[in-house]
Amino acid sequence: MVMNRPLMLVIEDDKAVRNLITATLETQDYRYLTAGTGRQGIQEAALKQPDIILLDLGLPDRDGTEVIQTLRSWSRMPIIVISARSEDRDKIEALDAGADDYLTKPFSVEELLARVRVTLRRMRYIQTQNEESPIFTNGDLKIDYSSGCVWLQDRELHLTPSEYKLLCLLAHNVGKVMTHTAILKAIWGSTLDSDVASLRVFMTTLRKKLESSTSSLPYIQTHVGVGYRMLRIEKLDDDAALPENKPHR
Ligand code: CA
Repeated sequence: MVMNRPLMLVIEDDKAVRNLITATLETQDYRYLTAGTGRQGIQEAALKQPDIILLDLGLPDRDGTEVIQTLRSWSRMPIIVISARSEDRDKIEALDAGADDYLTKPFSVEELLARVRVTLRRMRYIQTQNEESPIFTNGDLKIDYSSGCVWLQDRELHLTPSEYKLLCLLAHNVGKVMTHTAILKAIWGSTLDSDVASLRVFMTTLRKKLESSTSSLPYIQTHVGVGYRMLRIEKLDDDAALPENKPHR
């Protein structure tokens, strides 16, 4: 179902976790490379240009966030961060440094594969996207940037300027988890924690508008304590739909 045997780079020092990941990738016929340190991971990424990087944040030689910053200095290759449980702060830092998504340890094989599929879908979308197109479509949702109109199926949605900006920001970053801070900064130029509450209010009304028709596709996913993501909607029978729609911490 995916592009030709994507190449994954697994940067993880814990051998048991690394083996679990590579065994899982093998079941889907993905190709993979492994690295046990940040330094080695960066070298492999530069040499082999993997399609996706799975990156553990706790590496022996350097912090995973530093690895992301280094990779982002020359590359936009997708990075899925693997973080230890209940470290929202680490996840947020990693996302703000440029990671695309994250997985929390311990994770299930299904979750891992769902994240990989979401990321591959995002990549395919980016590759096929015409940068110049003023129209964004995703499932039943259509945004015409030139006129500022938003449609759900054939019904025009009436959004406030803030809701529209929010929707456009998520659409531009479809498939990627956007942290509260990144959203606040982009839309209101603010990064105050207290504004997260207003963001939540805007998001609730935006979502209601997106879900108030016969179409109730899960366009916006909440990442509790972290942020939001617009999901790339493809086929409805996609088996990735379940694990990735479950709220996670
Ligand atoms: Ca580790």
